[in-house]
Amino acid sequence: MYKPKILVVEDDPAITNLVRTTLDTQEYQYHTAKNGAGAMMEAVSYNADVIILDLGLPDMDGVDIIKKIRSWSLVPIIVVSARSEDQDKVEALDAGADDYLTKPFSIDELLARLRVALRRSRTDEAPAQAQSSIYRNGNLTIDYAAGCAYMEGKEIHLTPIEYKLLCVLAKNTGKVLTHNYILKEVWGSALASDTPSLRVFMATLRKKIESNPSEPKYIQTHIGVGYRMIRQ
Ligand code: CA
Repeated sequence: MYKPKILVVEDDPAITNLVRTTLDTQEYQYHTAKNGAGAMMEAVSYNADVIILDLGLPDMDGVDIIKKIRSWSLVPIIVVSARSEDQDKVEALDAGADDYLTKPFSIDELLARLRVALRRSRTDEAPAQAQSSIYRNGNLTIDYAAGCAYMEGKEIHLTPIEYKLLCVLAKNTGKVLTHNYILKEVWGSALASDTPSLRVFMATLRKKIESNPSEPKYIQTHIGVGYRMIRQ
């Protein structure tokens, strides 16, 4: 059986050990790197299925590493950051990261994120056959078979999580979806600690589809409850 390959980039030995112990109990193989130079070498030679990347490394900024890797690879990257500021995460996502974990994170969170990232790398290899419909709402179009979304005919560049989020909302147009429902649909789990992540991804998604993200036309916020895709 194929064991997915994970590259763990982290300079904190305690966290590296936690991740190693977690991966050892699962069907994963892994390599580790403790700085940016090592990360770049492993990114080239190891051919990982997922990269778990600490943003704060001694020799390089994690965001620069993401940009470098993205210049030649689409490997899913999960960013791990001690910083709780949303801005760092948004910067990492804009640079091409797929998902993120905030330290301290639980083993369950780590494994849930890994499963999502691996599902995504497998879907990329075997393009969708099942879904073939096209969703249209105002100027927004989603081609489920191609896995692409368009605004006024122009492709919107979405991260895999943003795309899933958009699809969940689109498939339930007109209905208010709770935070828990969305978290379960997008990440496969609904940990209370994930609600802030949802807010961050919603903000980055809105920046891409709304002409004025502070007055969204498509995705309406229901404070304390969830979100709703509005039929245009
Ligand atoms: Ca660090």
